[in-house]
Amino acid sequence: MFSNLASFILLMWWAASATAQQPPAEVTVLRAARLIDGTGAGVLQPAMVLIRKDRIEAVGQKLPVPAGAAVYDLGGATLLPGLIDLHTHLLGEVGVHWEEELLKTTPGQAAIYGVKNARDTLMAGFTTCRDMGPTWPFTDVDLRDAINKGAIPGPRLQVAGNYVSATGGAGDARQFSIYVEVPIVRNLADGVDEVRKVVRTNLKHGADFIKILATGAVLSKGISPGAQQYSGDELRVAVEEAGRWGRAVAAHAHGTAGINAALKAGVRTIDHGSMLDDESIRLLKASRAYFVPTLLVGKMILERGESLGVPPAEIERQRKLGSMAGASFSKAFQAGLPIGFGTDAGVFAHGMNAREFAVRATHGEDPMHAIVSATRISSEILGWEDRAGTIQSGRFADLIAVAGDPLRDITELERVRFVMKGGFVHKNELAK
Ligand SMILES: [Zn+2]
Repeated sequence: MFSNLASFILLMWWAASATAQQPPAEVTVLRAARLIDGTGAGVLQPAMVLIRKDRIEAVGQKLPVPAGAAVYDLGGATLLPGLIDLHTHLLGEVGVHWEEELLKTTPGQAAIYGVKNARDTLMAGFTTCRDMGPTWPFTDVDLRDAINKGAIPGPRLQVAGNYVSATGGAGDARQFSIYVEVPIVRNLADGVDEVRKVVRTNLKHGADFIKILATGAVLSKGISPGAQQYSGDELRVAVEEAGRWGRAVAAHAHGTAGINAALKAGVRTIDHGSMLDDESIRLLKASRAYFVPTLLVGKMILERGESLGVPPAEIERQRKLGSMAGASFSKAFQAGLPIGFGTDAGVFAHGMNAREFAVRATHGEDPMHAIVSATRISSEILGWEDRAGTIQSGRFADLIAVAGDPLRDITELERVRFVMKGGFVHKNELAK
């Protein structure tokens, strides 16, 4: 009897997962009232997309439908490329501060919540993300690999593996007795030789890029967010060593000195970038570096910090940063810089990523600029412009749809109704 019940449950589970992970049809055709392809070109209306297996084959207004194709008619909806969030923390339970995680949780627990978080992110229309570092080192590598194998649903990922932080800096746990050996301190590196060593270690263990903490952080008891944490020499050696592996460096940076030192060192992205000055703008223009603001997280910490497990002293750090991050965004936007799309999801619940759009809109960003930022520009930042970020022939069939027109109301992107990743339909609340 028990064994029958067990096989019944197994069968039900298998049936449920089979529906969720249905392999893509040989040919799929999508129809919708309009299509925004992510390149920044106008709107195609009406629109059809022809997909062969996991790739986009053709985009047009009227395409021939091959015999046997799976056809999805999305009616009055708008098709867009799957969205990209360049700053997420997918591992772990939301609302548990990272220093609490070190004390009270396990890497296994972080991974289980990571599975849920990855799914919530995908269902919200984000088909590609950068994971900016877990508390338990390299659990993000395992999450990425499980998604790539098709074992669990989630976005395509580039992962940091482990933070690179200075002693006493943003990645150093400070709530413990100095006599307690804290596991996270394995990421600490001081001086060019140690920085080189941790860069090599992270890449050896499966990181796709290097995340270096160039300044202090809001959610930390280390040096203040505005203070520079690494010297120009230390930042340069990180970029140099990552470059030997063909990899990029993402710099977490709030304060001006740290931002500019990271830009001079040749990092790929300035994440947060709360205090950009005129020199930062000049350096961003002159280099291949990109600014990846994260505005929603500041609002969330101030509005819901306590329920998100943020200690009062760290809410106070956010309050001191005040409107600086918004002013930085406006400055970069007005300078015409290409801007990436990031949120810091993980500090707040996954799946709310698209609320970042509305916050950016209050600083003057128009919907088309915002959509291109979260699609084509962000794919370029990842070096994945050949596979993601636009609805063009040859790219992965990563597409989403919303019921209305996001050019009229950007918050439509908070209500994604259809999600396809690599030809798999993961969510469909639109088509008959
Ligand atoms: Zn972050």
